[in-house]
Amino acid sequence: MTAATAELMDYDQVIDEFDPVLGLEVHVELGTDTKMFCACPTTFGADPNTQVCSVCIGLPGSLPVANAKAIEYAIRIGLALNCSIRPSSTFARKNYFYPDQPKNYQISQYDDPIAYDGHLDVVLSDGTTWRVEIERAHMEEDTGKSLHVGGDGRIHGADHSLLDYNRAGVPLVEIVTKPVTGAGARAPEVARAYVSALRDLLKSLDVSDVRMDQGSLRCDANVSLMRKGATEFGTRTETKNVNSLKSVEVAVAYEMRRQAAVLESGGEVIQETRHFHEADGTTSAGRRKETAEDYRYFPEPDLPPVQPDSAWVAEIAAALPELPWVRRARIQTEWGVSDEVMRDLVNVGAVDLIIATVDAGASPEAARGWWVSFLAQQANSREVELADLAITPAQVATIIGLVDEGKLTTKLAQQVAVAVLDGEGEPEQIVADRGLEVVRDDSALQKAVDEALAANPDIADKIRGGKVAAAGKIVGDVMKATRGQADPARVKELVIAACS
Ligand code: ADP
Ligand code: MG
Ligand code: ZN
Repeated sequence: MTAATAELMDYDQVIDEFDPVLGLEVHVELGTDTKMFCACPTTFGADPNTQVCSVCIGLPGSLPVANAKAIEYAIRIGLALNCSIRPSSTFARKNYFYPDQPKNYQISQYDDPIAYDGHLDVVLSDGTTWRVEIERAHMEEDTGKSLHVGGDGRIHGADHSLLDYNRAGVPLVEIVTKPVTGAGARAPEVARAYVSALRDLLKSLDVSDVRMDQGSLRCDANVSLMRKGATEFGTRTETKNVNSLKSVEVAVAYEMRRQAAVLESGGEVIQETRHFHEADGTTSAGRRKETAEDYRYFPEPDLPPVQPDSAWVAEIAAALPELPWVRRARIQTEWGVSDEVMRDLVNVGAVDLIIATVDAGASPEAARGWWVSFLAQQANSREVELADLAITPAQVATIIGLVDEGKLTTKLAQQVAVAVLDGEGEPEQIVADRGLEVVRDDSALQKAVDEALAANPDIADKIRGGKVAAAGKIVGDVMKATRGQADPARVKELVIAACS
């Protein structure tokens, strides 16, 4: 479904007349084995309603117990975001009815989140660093999932709805920024860069698989506009569940243009949630935004305050992994690449993939080459993020290894990579199944022949002059280069053909 076409102001005009203000709310599903307040497993994709118990479906008399691992992860996230960790924080009930929420309230944190007042520095495409201030990171539980059957998948027009409570009670941390001001024309880019940097950070912390496509990282983008020179923020809209980095950028830019047109025509922006439509990059009105009062927050009576002792917090701080920006600086030195090259690698989301590929045994040059050219093209044509390609750094390293060993030419290696991307299995298996080894491949031999000839111009001249016997030295070099896997007679034919 797409939104009814709204009036949009030209982007440049928006920037001339208005200053955008952003607020980003990111929900991250923690990768704990069990749920936030019960021992149910959290495995993604299990059969509906097989991972539920009396606590997470809210049967009367059941009592929640907070998951220590989830608290540890929340603290880890808070520390990595330069937040203060509150020595004592409480859970609160956020009351509202929706069928995907069996208790009729969500256990969340309200006025004393476990982590608060931090920041995350993000690098923009021109190399400048933008500091995003973090308001809070708090713990809460996820809701279940509704599946609207019939119609186009939305509740309106559906025949009936199915409910799966497997996700109900999965631990979440919600990370909320302070209002981001002053970004001007770069607001959409700042939004995207922030979510991207946050995703990288969360991944490095090993607290979540941060799969936007599976909903383990979800972003709500708040946008408002101020007329140039105004001192008060305008009314914001909150575009919900924007599920890819690109969509974050598109959604923010769209809301800026839509709100500007509304304001320009003398209208008012309505404080509401909005749905984002992936297909055409538009948003449409959702529900009028509740205020905090509507939720009747009150302290959760069944859970004691969370009081992590300072020694434990210090222990978690000491055990933080190398954070992405520290790692990047180190890696850049190790690889010896310029700021500009490094920035490009960051922008295409290739750094961690390259690092992992190098860790799996490939050379930095080969790993870089694969991710920024061939695999980047594949990601582009398959319309997925580089990191979401169906090939792992280990598989890429294996393929590079096969090329290094002379078992595959670059061309063949690319075929193998495409087969992996198409779900045909492991590289070695694909090579075996398809008989792709280089010995049967003339073009690979040709390359080795050309190289050997180029390296021995005097011998090449002799062969060209008719001294066929001189070809022996070249054949020997090619055999060495192909680790004996080539057929010497065929190599000789190729050498002579190349010189005639
Ligand atoms: P809600 O309960 O409505 O989701 P939150 O406080 O969780 O509210 O998140 C609101 C987000 O919007 C925060 O990131 C906040 O900084 C940001 N924000 C607040 N006011 C504005 C505004 N006028 N324009 C844009 N963003 C705003
Ligand atoms: Mg919120
Ligand atoms: Zn349960």
